Amino acid sequence: MLGLVRNPCPRRLPFLLLALGLSALAAEERPSLSLQPETARPGDPVLVTVSGLDEAPTGTLGETPLRFFPAKEGFQALTGLPVEQSPGPLEVKVTAPATEGSAPLELRGSLKVVEPGWRERRLRVASKYVKPPPEVEARMEEDRTAFATAFSQSFSPPLFAQDFAWPRKANVTARYGDLRTFNGEKQSQHFGTDIRGKLGAKVRAANEGTVVMTRDNYAAGNTVLLYHGVGLYTAYFHLSQILVKEGEQVKRGQLLGHVGSTGRSTGPHLHWGVKVEDKWVDAQRLLELRFF
Ligand SMILES: [Zn+2]
Repeated sequence: MLGLVRNPCPRRLPFLLLALGLSALAAEERPSLSLQPETARPGDPVLVTVSGLDEAPTGTLGETPLRFFPAKEGFQALTGLPVEQSPGPLEVKVTAPATEGSAPLELRGSLKVVEPGWRERRLRVASKYVKPPPEVEARMEEDRTAFATAFSQSFSPPLFAQDFAWPRKANVTARYGDLRTFNGEKQSQHFGTDIRGKLGAKVRAANEGTVVMTRDNYAAGNTVLLYHGVGLYTAYFHLSQILVKEGEQVKRGQLLGHVGSTGRSTGPHLHWGVKVEDKWVDAQRLLELRFF
């Protein structure tokens, strides 16, 4: 039976539990709710785990609906905090369906959202990097359409059976959330993790998944997008070479291509992005989530 194995990981503390009509159950059989992380920054992916249930619950994180999928210990839902999320507590509410002889069960938790403390960086770059020339407008519109299509995969259970891994083992040169001022004027925020790499260095799949884009985009350059199920995508930008095809199933650690500087890039590096439920989130924090 699903869901009655207790969570052995002490970091996943059970949160406030409101059990209605289940008082007869032994304490160790009570459903429980855990959050990863327990303290989050705006832009973090958040994994909600409910153990001890046989049927899928429904729930929300703040105002955002959660989509649950079966997991080893019960059910999980993955979501992401918007980058503009205000600091403070964010309520998690989960409702398990009524079962024979018992009322619906409500579980509640609270996610602590802290100030992001984004780093500010001033960069000087050639003007073509700040303002795309008007003749590329049409091309950028095609890119947006292609991304929208790639990001419209249907929700499915996880296509992966292990936690996420670095696509390259090298220094991070720019973090998620960095605020950048280009040439003293244009400001933008960085929604990926830049990883150092020489031209031609290896770029590997962060996890098992399906290739949903292999395309040369104006800004992102040669791009590989992987879909991992559960509304979760990983993106690999600026590649010099792509070694996989759309529709292909890849394994964690499989070679996807080589580091390059294609698109609007000022030098060879890997821009690694993670998208959850239509929001770019911090890839480094995805690596800390324990799905299994
Ligand atoms: Zn980047």
